[in-house]
Amino acid sequence: MPELPEVETVRVALANATSGGVVRSVETSGKVMRWPIPGHLPDVMAGASIRGYRRRGKYILMDIEAKAGMKDRAEHQPLVVLIHLGMSGSVRIHPAGMKPGNEKHDHLIMTMADNQRVVLNDPRRFGGVALMTPREEPGHKLLSAMGIEPLGNSLSGAFLKDAMQSKKTSIKASLLDQRIIAGIGNIYASEALFMAGINPRRQAGRISTSRLDLLAGSICKVLEEAIMAGGTSLRDHVQPGGEIGYFAQQLAVYGREGEGCPQCSAPIRMIRQTGRASFYCPQCQR
Ligand SMILES: [Zn+2]
Repeated sequence: MPELPEVETVRVALANATSGGVVRSVETSGKVMRWPIPGHLPDVMAGASIRGYRRRGKYILMDIEAKAGMKDRAEHQPLVVLIHLGMSGSVRIHPAGMKPGNEKHDHLIMTMADNQRVVLNDPRRFGGVALMTPREEPGHKLLSAMGIEPLGNSLSGAFLKDAMQSKKTSIKASLLDQRIIAGIGNIYASEALFMAGINPRRQAGRISTSRLDLLAGSICKVLEEAIMAGGTSLRDHVQPGGEIGYFAQQLAVYGREGEGCPQCSAPIRMIRQTGRASFYCPQCQR
């Protein structure tokens, strides 16, 4: 499942390949993803120029300038196309000159004026594509309730202390709460807690500010390291399918049940918390 670093890697790859470019045409599968792909998206995107790509949590936001505009609006209307990779979404970028056929589960195929093709594939269809104006963006139902960006300037021990104060849930569950911090998933929550030496079962509201300071730093560090690994995978990228966004990650505890802790060699434990697997070292994490 793509988490923030994978989404950021896809964002960078898309920006490198298509920012400043013009969209020739867009096809959609017509299938309902998490929500239906807007029916007028191909019309709106045809001829649009791509101004750039931003990321909010695990959403990619493509800023376009639509030639036709929506409905009867003025020409050159700025619009935002939101792309959500969901559980199983991936993006392929086919360079100009390659003419691969469509694959099963391709839901959005964007052909650029320079003949590059960008394809969103999603077998489980938990991802989605949405269209909005820049004005609608802050209040959009997918975006309005989102918490802070973990790599922005707001994340600190003091912020976490304040946000977790009344939380009777575990620190692990609180880290996955997208209304507090946007974009942290199961993998990096486990990794950040390990780096900070905090037991995932500890009650969020009862952790000291100094330990939450450590946690804030650990969240940044694990995400930044993973983004760097993604950047490396992008440079070394030679997969014929053109798929972007999944790379070998250096994980200390996630998925390593029974293996030795990298710090103390005690066996890593796996527990279930609110239905999700948590991996931790019972010695190093208190
Ligand atoms: Zn350990």
